[in-house]
Amino acid sequence: MAEPTVFDRILDGKIPCHRVYEDDHVLAFLDIGPLSAGHTLVIPKERVAQLHELSDDAAAALGRVLPRLCRAVMHVTGATAYNVLQNNGSAAHQEVRHVHFHIIPRFKGSGLEIGWEPGSLDEGRADKVAQKIRIALAATL
Ligand code: AMP
Repeated sequence: MAEPTVFDRILDGKIPCHRVYEDDHVLAFLDIGPLSAGHTLVIPKERVAQLHELSDDAAAALGRVLPRLCRAVMHVTGATAYNVLQNNGSAAHQEVRHVHFHIIPRFKGSGLEIGWEPGSLDEGRADKVAQKIRIALAATL
């Protein structure tokens, strides 16, 4: 079994957090290293590392409360822009191996920078890739 993560220890009550929301499936709390005021983490109580491993029920529970949590964070911080960031795997900058969504209010000078270097979609290959994904989806439903 994998080593418990810091979020497992929070869920188990072994270390404290600044809780903002909790239900049977979801816990949300302030990030200990905020990129901006109000930076909040939303985690499932289901203990899996990456989003694709999450059960449909846990995913639905997260999806139900995520917009509501965003509204509350925006209301309290007064931010008019925010990012919802969800990292999977070390190459994607995931440090804590327990699924989590960051809600990061954006203000001038807040600490999130996103490099974005778009390519252009190759129409010929796009058809094949889209079809392969449709087939993979059908196989895993
Ligand atoms: P990630 O890079 O997406 O895995 O982000 C992990 C986040 O967890 C970072 O933003 C950390 O600041 C945050 N974090 C780590 N330990 C704690 C903790 N004990 N309480 C709250 N947030 C934490």
